[in-house]
Amino acid sequence: TSPAPVRRALVTGGSGGIGAAICERLAADGHHVIVHAHRGLERAQALVARIQAQGGRAEAIAFDVADRAATAAGLEALLAAGPIQILVNNAGIHDDAVFPGMSGAQWDRVVDVSLGGFFNVTQPLTLPMLRTRWGRIISLSSVAALAGNRGQVNYSAAKGALHAASKSLAQEVASRGVTVNVVAPGLIATGMIDGQFDADTVKRLVPMQRVGQPREVADLVAFLASDQAAYISGQVISINGAML
Ligand code: NAD
Repeated sequence: TSPAPVRRALVTGGSGGIGAAICERLAADGHHVIVHAHRGLERAQALVARIQAQGGRAEAIAFDVADRAATAAGLEALLAAGPIQILVNNAGIHDDAVFPGMSGAQWDRVVDVSLGGFFNVTQPLTLPMLRTRWGRIISLSSVAALAGNRGQVNYSAAKGALHAASKSLAQEVASRGVTVNVVAPGLIATGMIDGQFDADTVKRLVPMQRVGQPREVADLVAFLASDQAAYISGQVISINGAML
């Protein structure tokens, strides 16, 4: 069999947590990884150096995915160097509050980053993917969007909207070799959940009795990004230790 083709892969919010594991895994698969960071490039550059030290291909870029103009400029610069055929919409934030106490700013910011970021990053990359007749668009959602979660009306709404958006986009682009899927993790060991769940709570919430590792999510994303996953599109795939 011929070796798997090298593709350029953009991972938003890729400098830490689940995103970093996805970058490392895609680089290990031979792809040229664009490690995207929000503001500071330092962590992204450190990850690029680590990937390169292992013989992988990587570069770093920073912009705020909630800022449409900044995102457009960043993507334009990346596209000038070649097509981006794998997109992982991983950037996301939560800002929790019980609903009566949730401020409009908390609602807007979480929606702007997750759902606005999906539009701002995905739309400029879609037409180039259609032209090359190969593409993978994978977005990170959450168990909160499927099961609900107290204090996360904003977060679960923004993530759930990614499910609907991805299903519609999947149908639009299906005939051109572009797939669009969502990965919905449960509790994964990153800074996002640090200190929020003690061992007893994890045992109560997760039938597998442990949190997941970023690497486990990365393995699923890498499969969806591969040629082998060509017939999987418009799906929301959970990875949560049997939480649902
Ligand atoms: P994380 O906080 O380590 O990573 C989120 C990344 O998004 C960070 O690198 C951050 O810089 C980036 N980001 C945030 N706002 C941004 C903006 N405006 N512009 C650009 N980048 C921005 O958390 P993580 O746990 O690695 O989360 C990764 C994804 O997985 C998120 O979408 C999160 O919602 C989702 N998720 C995480 C868990 C979990 O348990 N850790 C569970 C379900 C879903």
